[in-house]
Amino acid sequence: MALLITEECINCDVCEPQCPNDAITMGEEYYIIDPEKCTECVGHHDTPQCMQVCPVDCIEPDPQWKEDADQLMEKYKRLTA
Ligand code: SF4
Ligand code: SF4
Repeated sequence: MALLITEECINCDVCEPQCPNDAITMGEEYYIIDPEKCTECVGHHDTPQCMQVCPVDCIEPDPQWKEDADQLMEKYKRLTA
């Protein structure tokens, strides 16, 4: 499942450099995650790095992007091919 940043984001920019897939960018009002690039950090880390560092806990699973561990690993392989 890709992750999603909610409107509670305070634009602190702490998460963006932590993402191994460059999936996080500044959106129109707050930071956003590209679901095509977010693997929940599968392939790089044991836990989602952005969630670890976000000071306001505004990053959560995106219900529009349901993916299991195998699909996330496939996405990781596509991104690194
Ligand atoms: Fe990037 Fe990992 Fe956060 Fe997804 S979970 S946006 S890959 S840091
Ligand atoms: Fe927004 Fe959290 Fe990222 Fe800071 S760490 S920019 S509050 S999502």
